[in-house]
Amino acid sequence: MTNLRIPGPTPCPDEVLKEMSRQMINHRGPEFARILNDATDKLKQLFMTKNDVFLLTGSGTGGLEAAVVNTLSPGDKVLSVSIGVFGDRFAAIARQFGAEVIPLCFEWGKSANIDEIRQALKKESSIKAVMVTHNETSTGVTNDLAKISSAVKEYDKLFLVDAISSLGSIELPVDEWHCDITITGSQKGWMVPPGLVMVAVSEAAWKANAEAKMPRFYWDFAKAKSYLEKGQTPWTPAVSIVFALSVALDMMLKEELPNIIARHVRMAEKTRNGVKALGLGLFAEEGYASNTVTSIAASDGLDIKELLRILREEHQTILGGGQQHLAGKIFRIGHLGWVTEEDIDNVLKALKVALPQAGFRSKK
Ligand SMILES: *Cc1c(COP(=O)(O)O)cnc(C)c1O
Repeated sequence: MTNLRIPGPTPCPDEVLKEMSRQMINHRGPEFARILNDATDKLKQLFMTKNDVFLLTGSGTGGLEAAVVNTLSPGDKVLSVSIGVFGDRFAAIARQFGAEVIPLCFEWGKSANIDEIRQALKKESSIKAVMVTHNETSTGVTNDLAKISSAVKEYDKLFLVDAISSLGSIELPVDEWHCDITITGSQKGWMVPPGLVMVAVSEAAWKANAEAKMPRFYWDFAKAKSYLEKGQTPWTPAVSIVFALSVALDMMLKEELPNIIARHVRMAEKTRNGVKALGLGLFAEEGYASNTVTSIAASDGLDIKELLRILREEHQTILGGGQQHLAGKIFRIGHLGWVTEEDIDNVLKALKVALPQAGFRSKK
């Protein structure tokens, strides 16, 4: 069996996949309303929020666009805190819709520096919102979101959080950390196929929404809210993925959030220790390595393209490469959602064989 260990899409349990073969139902009927309302309640528990949560059909990037167009107007100043590909993407969306983006970029592999965020907010008092990536999937780094949040709230800014590859896997109490818009995607830690994006919207975000002038139609939160009151979504949702999510949420609530978070900590530690024991070096800054994806730097003759090919063709093990200027420089092991010790052991076993074949000469 293939060991798919990329940071999304992630493997899905059989119970979840089976739900996908259910017959279609009326998405404006009572049965769908029950499923949607139930899933929304369960998501609120896992987001640790009392605010609105919406299930939108699309990929994570659609959720990032939704966050921008629902809270901002053209010309609004936003501070974009970016530590990698996805932070840059969030900024690009805001720029595309006419926001005045103030970029605060950190070296890839590092986390965002809180003092620099504070200084940027102090320097430019007309900033309306701060955009940040909780877990930067492209570099395998998790920002200290609690600390960033306290800086953002000290200056009373709207806090837009890309939590696509962290929520449901890494600790993120949405209300306690004052996140105004929090976005996640079904294919990351939720054990569900791609197709749904889940967003939480705070009261402050609703206030911003009432004044936000950016064009929006498909992603309009006000429409999502009025339809949810009827147990519906404005547009036809990905019904099969909602079925799947419903089962996955039950599994998650049964495992319980603290246990899920602890399992991700264990899997990440096992992965980090395992790759270090093979003589490899981590790419992420010490202390900020992600618990959902481990990034490993190329060293000692390692040809990453060749390594990924050997793993794929000879070990049925699929790992992620580096994106943009990290292509060929790092590779990534996803360990989020449905993942066990055995999955990590199998990756490490395959690596042990494949590394020397891909040119790696460990100094250890
Ligand atoms: C995967 C991911 C995205 C993009 O999501 P898509 O579903 O591919 O559109 C954005 N941000 C982060 C942090 C991600 O991990």
